Amino acid sequence: MDDEAVRRTSTLTCANCGCEYLHHTRVSIYERQEDAFDGLHIEVGDNQVVMNTSQEGNPSPRRSGIKIRLDCEGCNKITWLSLIQHKGQTIMIKTDNEEEEAHG
Ligand SMILES: [Zn+2]
Repeated sequence: MDDEAVRRTSTLTCANCGCEYLHHTRVSIYERQEDAFDGLHIEVGDNQVVMNTSQEGNPSPRRSGIKIRLDCEGCNKITWLSLIQHKGQTIMIKTDNEEEEAHG
């Protein structure tokens, strides 16, 4: 990367301990029409691909979203990076909510 590209990037850190050594181990993509119960869900991780219409685990309460599971080398906890479509904006959220694991 050139210097300009480096200035526009930053390293993600663990939401629990601040460690910079994270591995993205699962990516879930949710697509749906506004307020639709079902849509398209594709998940890649754990050496498999899952595809269905479920919106369970979608980080966006009403629209599409992307969720990335990041495993930390420092504390072995999971950090979730979510991109949420909300009212025409794209919101980025980082959490360490372990309950997210249950919903993928
Ligand atoms: Zn950590």
